[in-house]
Amino acid sequence: MQVLVTGGAGYIGSHSVLTLLENDYEVIVYDNLCNSSAESIERVKRLTGKSVDFIEGDIRDKDKLREVFEHHNISVVIHFAALKAVGESTTIPLSYFQSNVHGTVCVLEVMKEFGVNNFIFSSSATVYGEENDVPYDENMKLGTPSSPYGANKVMVERILQDLAISDPQFRAVSLRYFNPIGAHESGEIGEDPSGIPNNLLPYVAQVAVGKRAKLNIFGGDYPTQDGSCERDYLHVMDLAEGHLAALEWLNKNESFRGVEAFNLGTGNGVSVFAIVKAFESATSKAIPFDVAPRRSGDLPAFWANANKANTQLNWQATRSLTQMMKDTWHWQSNNPNGYAK
Ligand code: NAD
Ligand code: UDP
Repeated sequence: MQVLVTGGAGYIGSHSVLTLLENDYEVIVYDNLCNSSAESIERVKRLTGKSVDFIEGDIRDKDKLREVFEHHNISVVIHFAALKAVGESTTIPLSYFQSNVHGTVCVLEVMKEFGVNNFIFSSSATVYGEENDVPYDENMKLGTPSSPYGANKVMVERILQDLAISDPQFRAVSLRYFNPIGAHESGEIGEDPSGIPNNLLPYVAQVAVGKRAKLNIFGGDYPTQDGSCERDYLHVMDLAEGHLAALEWLNKNESFRGVEAFNLGTGNGVSVFAIVKAFESATSKAIPFDVAPRRSGDLPAFWANANKANTQLNWQATRSLTQMMKDTWHWQSNNPNGYAK
């Protein structure tokens, strides 16, 4: 079965491609490398001993996408490609709508031209917005996210629903990720942010490796147990296996039509202070930190109700917080400059 993976050279994409290859899917990666390196795919090939057809291209380039569909027998698209820096999305919102919403529409249009009806979308917990109480579950209404990035995810989920109403053949899964961290156990692939990391774990890892002096913990006065924000961190390999589970669910449920959303998280909230402690004890590296002002747009605490993915996809996050820390450090210490030579 041939799977087109947009954004497959990126952090979550590369780990998911590895999992798909290990489960005997044929994978075509389509990525413009705006936030990644083709080296990730080279390493996935080495780790699995399998081949991957890699095409460098932009999802907004419909002619190039058409060529890909013409030359392959694609059954399903897993759509990771997107810009993902929440802060940046507030300064260049049009670029975010252009890539993440218009780009997704381009992919869906070309799929329709070629009669490909199966779509797995990288959504996010951010779609629950500020209105919903924790833990988030899939029956809740889509909320109002605090950034253009979050709005992009809500808009795409709405587009998928409208498309499914108009097209009785269309089948889509929205996977709402919570906070993926960690790296493949080999330490060969991992998260390689460009510039100053926005996300917590890449920042912590760069402090540990000596690239940054100290961590700023954004806010110590939230109404949480220890005053720092709580998130639902899950291992990126568990998340990769969630995509496999979603793909197998689509394959098995032949009569399914429409859009189904699933949370992919552990169901537990962990604070920023607890993350720092867990990293220190798993790696024996000290992480100096300051408690800094709150970061605008951050919610105090959210985590998943992960029951739906558990019962319907037969998926559960199994890797521990300690494993997430060890694997983050294994990747970062082996690759202090990421994929750059
Ligand atoms: P990433 O930046 O590592 O991967 C995204 C990939 O898409 C990159 O390889 C990039 O080069 C590519 N890309 C971006 N715009 C493109 C375009 N116009 N055409 C072709 N390729 C393009 O990010 P990631 O963390 O792997 O995230 C993957 C997906 O998961 C994104 O849709 C992101 O919004 C979503 N997501 C991520 C997180 C997270 O915490 N990392 C959480 C929730 C949802
Ligand atoms: N965070 C922090 N310092 C950093 C980066 C993040 O204290 O340098 C906090 C951030 O305020 C949030 C949590 O860590 O409470 C997770 O942030 P991240 O950006 O990784 O994920 P998201 O905001 O998407 O949940």
